[in-house]
Amino acid sequence: MEDSSHNSTSSAVISAISSVPELTEADLQILTSGGLRIPAHSSILGMASPVLESIIESSERVIPILGVPCDAVSAFVGYLYSSRCTEEQMDKYGIHLLTLSHVYSVPQLKQRCTRGVSQRLTVENVVDVLQLAWLCDAPDLYLKCMKQVLAHFKAVEQTEGWKFMQDHDPWVELEILKFIDEAESRKKRTRRHREEQSLYLQLSEAMECLEHIYTEGCTTVAPYDVEPAKKTSPCNKYKTCQGVQLLIKHFALCKRRINGGGCSRCNRMWQLLKLHSSICDQPDSCRVPLCRQFKLKAKQQKMGDDAKWKLLVRKVLSAKAMSSLSLPKRKREEELRETMEDHVLKTFRLL
Ligand SMILES: [Zn+2]
Ligand SMILES: [Zn+2]
Ligand SMILES: [Zn+2]
Repeated sequence: MEDSSHNSTSSAVISAISSVPELTEADLQILTSGGLRIPAHSSILGMASPVLESIIESSERVIPILGVPCDAVSAFVGYLYSSRCTEEQMDKYGIHLLTLSHVYSVPQLKQRCTRGVSQRLTVENVVDVLQLAWLCDAPDLYLKCMKQVLAHFKAVEQTEGWKFMQDHDPWVELEILKFIDEAESRKKRTRRHREEQSLYLQLSEAMECLEHIYTEGCTTVAPYDVEPAKKTSPCNKYKTCQGVQLLIKHFALCKRRINGGGCSRCNRMWQLLKLHSSICDQPDSCRVPLCRQFKLKAKQQKMGDDAKWKLLVRKVLSAKAMSSLSLPKRKREEELRETMEDHVLKTFRLL
């Protein structure tokens, strides 16, 4: 009964054997869990696997390879002779061949299996393969499994493999949960970084607008010696510019500020002017209000020593440099537009 079901693979081994002409008769046997005995040559096996070599040296003539299906063993022995295995064998016995290649130290087959198995990952088998990859010391495959689990966690959690692993290998579960957790905090960090960058970029734009409004004027605000009506079309940073203009107009007329009460919009304007002064490199010819006064005050009060403020100034300056250097303009504008709606004026937190 055994023999008939293994005929095809056994004959594959035999034909592989007979294709090596100088071989003498088989001098040992591989015993499989199904009771199948595969004739083999110690010279070939010893050459292909250092582990088998040392077993053969201990003068064993029957080498049991148990615990995996007979046909997987046949495919394994076939590989030792021919350095080949078929896609069909990979489909059926990929994980067994991976185990065998690891245990008997056959690196080329192991590589082939790592690739083959990783191409055949499914939600159903990913947890089993992950455990196997760990046991077989196959880091690439292990990582690929982790990513798969991460990508389909809800579905993987429902599989038999997951439940079995929870009961029998809780440390694997722990590893997986840790991996997921790290991936999420990595994502959060990236998002936070992006948000910060976009904030600094917006502030940097607001700085440009401030200068442009006080130098040449824009749609609704202009210096006293420039006619506002002269410039009817909005500038190329109009979204930001419009917000800054609204803020300027509010600042000029706000009753709460004039009466000495606190006003958050005025405070924002105040901070924008202060920020401008901190990054302005031409205070003598600068037309932005309070630029020189802030610089003077900074000198007197050593306001420049405020570490947080310095950091903000540095970040805005580097955002400005980045925006003019690296990102293509269109992409930058798209990114900005996503978060732009009123953002500059409503949500930026000055330190
Ligand atoms: Zn403008
Ligand atoms: Zn106000
Ligand atoms: Zn200035």
